[in-house]
Amino acid sequence: MSDNSVPLSTSLEMNKLDDLKLLRLQEELKYVNAELVEQLARVVLDGLVKWSNTHIFSKLGGELTIEIPLGPPNAGVGYKSLEPLRPHMVIYLAMITDIYRDALAFPVVCRRLVDETETLEAFHQIPAWQGFPFAFKTAMPTLQAGHVHGDLSAFCEVMAEQHERQTESILDTNDVRCRFVMFELMLVWTFFHELGHVVQQHYRLRNKTDYLDAAETFLEFPEETPSTDQANAGSIGDAPPDLPAQARELMADGESIDLTLKYIHVTGRLCFPLLYLLYCSVGCMFQRFYQNYTENLNIVGRWHPHPALREEVSEAFLSDTIRDHLVATKKVPNDEASVMTVLYASIRANLLTGLFRAHRIEQRDDGDGLPSYMRLLTEEHRPGMLSYQDTLMPYIEAQMDEVRQWHLLPENRMDDWLEMLRRQQSQRIQSSAEP
Ligand SMILES: [Zn+2]
Repeated sequence: MSDNSVPLSTSLEMNKLDDLKLLRLQEELKYVNAELVEQLARVVLDGLVKWSNTHIFSKLGGELTIEIPLGPPNAGVGYKSLEPLRPHMVIYLAMITDIYRDALAFPVVCRRLVDETETLEAFHQIPAWQGFPFAFKTAMPTLQAGHVHGDLSAFCEVMAEQHERQTESILDTNDVRCRFVMFELMLVWTFFHELGHVVQQHYRLRNKTDYLDAAETFLEFPEETPSTDQANAGSIGDAPPDLPAQARELMADGESIDLTLKYIHVTGRLCFPLLYLLYCSVGCMFQRFYQNYTENLNIVGRWHPHPALREEVSEAFLSDTIRDHLVATKKVPNDEASVMTVLYASIRANLLTGLFRAHRIEQRDDGDGLPSYMRLLTEEHRPGMLSYQDTLMPYIEAQMDEVRQWHLLPENRMDDWLEMLRRQQSQRIQSSAEP
């Protein structure tokens, strides 16, 4: 979080942030070398732009370009021209440094959770995980040097060596590799979310009077974030929700999950440790957006649905896709083993990312209770989660009918994504009809 993104106080309605922790985060910012972060990010993003141009835009006579401007954390996409398609993506440097800082801190916080609490030990006592082949009790999964992005690997190993030499550093080579992988995966997810808006051609579905000018960059977050006063007055949710826009955000999330998994696969790194870190990366991304949302799952007056719903839908698709892959490639003996694999990875990642956020920014009055974001993913909030999803379903169905006709990537898996949502909905209707 940068200076621009951290509200200094919050209302009772919003999830509570700890002022002292926020100050600590502002301090931390002083130690982040933004120039270096931009250089590392460019290595990843330039590769993604090249891939997108080769596989999508040059075939259309178009070209995707990308820019990393200064300004508050944000990302978005506009067009230099629609005919041929020339999208222009922006990912603000502050968003990239926020991602970098999460990647930097995550292994440290996880290690402290392992060394100073019983949390992970208790998690592994659950009978279901006994004998589970992928279970690991260390803070982070074990990575090899080859798991790090090829063009960042040498740099990563130099940094790892520095940590190994420093006696006061609690981090080892493996932690540093995990940092690099999470930084990369969070960036890749962000890039593909924006690309999702482009390949699904969402500009065609926007309210024409609001978004007439396609050249204007359509930013994820309004440039004027709500002031603390507005938040205190509870006026954030007063604007009528743009439900078609909220549905499109879930659709872009689905595209991002599909493309990020394909990216891991084509770079030859599809393995359990990377998939676990992908769950952690997706969790960290959505929790980043949580700080301006309420501690419930009421439909919000914005064009992004509540991040907890976005995480729920994205992770369900991630798990579904991994299960299909494991069964199809016979990497697990049966379907039950595939279910266990995604359950272990997703529950462990939810636990660690939830505690990570609480440790980093949340005000905890009740040290024993679950952090507020984690509570939203429990049974207690299940009815709110399901009714939110049901409300968006007609908007997803209607817009998917259109997107199917003009999607720029013919081999996309958005029909599988929609099928998953329909299946979940029909299971809900069935179970509610049962006596
Ligand atoms: Zn979006």
